[in-house]
Amino acid sequence: MNNLGGSSYDAARGRLRTVMLAAALACAGSLLTPQSFLPLKLFFTIATILLFATIVFIIVRECRCPHCGKIIFLGALSATHCPRCRRSLTTGKKYKKSKK
Ligand SMILES: [Zn+2]
Repeated sequence: MNNLGGSSYDAARGRLRTVMLAAALACAGSLLTPQSFLPLKLFFTIATILLFATIVFIIVRECRCPHCGKIIFLGALSATHCPRCRRSLTTGKKYKKSKK
């Protein structure tokens, strides 16, 4: 391993954000396109489904904790720490030092 994998999580998150934006646009496009433009509406609908499939694919493939491998499914864009091992997803530092 060359690094802790934090930068790859950042890169995956950047891709995820782009695809989510595209999916939102495609979804809005399909909703705003009137029935009379059925082929265009169909195109947007299919694009939305494909983009959502891509989002799930990116999350499952790439939005994993670099330390324990847990998939960060909920809050993949805003999460800064892994819910399982509590390490930072970008720097690998522990969230809290539990000293007793
Ligand atoms: Zn973890």
